[in-house]
Amino acid sequence: MYLSKSLYCNAIQCNKMLWLEKNYPEEKEEVANDSVLDNGTEVGLLAKDLFGKSIDIEFNKDLNKMIEDTKIALQKDKVIVTEASFNYNNNFCSVDILKKDNDNYELYEVKSSTEVKDIYLHDASYQYYVLTKLGLNVTKVSIVYINSNYVRKEKLELDKLFNIEDITAIAISKLEEVDNKIKEINNYMKQTEIPKDDIDMHCVKPYDCPFFKFCTKHLPEQNIFNIRRMPNRSKFKLYHEGIYSYDKLLNTKIDSKYKQQIEYELYNKEPHINIDKIKEFLNTLSYPLYFLDFETYQQSIPEYIGIKPYDQIPFQYSLHYIEKENGELYHKEFLSEANIDPRRKLAESLVNDIPENVCTIAYNMMFEKMVIRSLAKQYPNLSKHLMNIHDNMKDLMIPFKDRNYYTKDMHGSYSIKYVLPALFPNDPSLDYHNLEGVHNGSEAMSTFSNLGNLSKEEQQIVRNNLLKYCELDTYAMVKIWDKLESITKRKDELYKKIELL
Ligand code: SF4
Repeated sequence: MYLSKSLYCNAIQCNKMLWLEKNYPEEKEEVANDSVLDNGTEVGLLAKDLFGKSIDIEFNKDLNKMIEDTKIALQKDKVIVTEASFNYNNNFCSVDILKKDNDNYELYEVKSSTEVKDIYLHDASYQYYVLTKLGLNVTKVSIVYINSNYVRKEKLELDKLFNIEDITAIAISKLEEVDNKIKEINNYMKQTEIPKDDIDMHCVKPYDCPFFKFCTKHLPEQNIFNIRRMPNRSKFKLYHEGIYSYDKLLNTKIDSKYKQQIEYELYNKEPHINIDKIKEFLNTLSYPLYFLDFETYQQSIPEYIGIKPYDQIPFQYSLHYIEKENGELYHKEFLSEANIDPRRKLAESLVNDIPENVCTIAYNMMFEKMVIRSLAKQYPNLSKHLMNIHDNMKDLMIPFKDRNYYTKDMHGSYSIKYVLPALFPNDPSLDYHNLEGVHNGSEAMSTFSNLGNLSKEEQQIVRNNLLKYCELDTYAMVKIWDKLESITKRKDELYKKIELL
């Protein structure tokens, strides 16, 4: 079996994943896991600058060409080579950064993550094994990763942005383990029948496996893995005890909120609406009402002053507002230009659009509050107004989080992406699927990050898509609030009628 470092790491997570990848690639599903993020190319390119001038081995589908180019590059006594490529006995690897000093070599594996995960140790140890077996004297093995505490100043300081952790001792201690693992993989891959390995925590750790659906097809459609917010460890424990169907789960001691999801879906129960509690929540709101939603993006390498790696940088907001009872609905919005620091203009626009001492409503307000706090910290002259918005914020998620309004179609979730279609199942104007180009927060994030690479005409179209998406977020909040208002009012009217009788 021809192995690469990523295939080896897949097998560290699960041999069957590798087997399915080879024999049933069509069963692989799209999963948003961190494995792509961890190996971000932008970070890899920048980390190379830490070491000064280097020779880069260009990628070639013909791996032998890369290996030959590496040999030529390593003819120098002292040299830094990036993507230096080697093959020992069908075990291939490209080393992110290889530093040669006469007969000694230092190996650096670059990750976009802000911590050294266990899987990286396996990754680097595999490379150490390949190079050592080829007779290279590797004196140092290190992981280069992002320092999450680094705050960008005027200039980017690479030595502060990156942490370098020496893991040489671990790589040496794993030499035999790597050798055994490679033998195990080669034996495993000879199987002709689908391997019977069962699911467990390794299916979600370190990364969500793209074959999970395939490996759980023996389960009934309504099974424990559909239960929201139950920890994975509890799910796998119950699964191995044979308790995974909804009816068995109902007869088990599990939290009442999980049972509620199961009962509603299993017995097709009518919605649960606690009018008094909803009214209690609505009484905490007061006119004028401002409905606010931010879109943010993240940078592994902070481009702007005061930003840390992976900080949430707001680039857009939508704001719907109603000034008085039965008043009209108005809309305002902000979307930054591409390739500039969006924060200052966004903060100024926000304090212009939302007066002090008004009730601002967000859905899952922790996020909006976090964004506002960081803007207030960054811009002291806007801080008082921003913090006033922050302090007067209310969370529309509360009635749903507290399950004072619950329907089977919420599937145990109180996220707006579940609540909205559950409350308005047949309203195409509230269906995110009907939007062009941008349908969720991560699409908004990647769309905005790429905006600067587009032509003016393309930017216009994409900006319009972003505006429509964010507008729907706050319009959806208005509709949800309105629905809560109307059901509580209906009850009041009913009481009045009864009193008149
Ligand atoms: S779902 Fe689990 S058992 Fe199946 S291939 Fe993936 S990690 Fe392995």
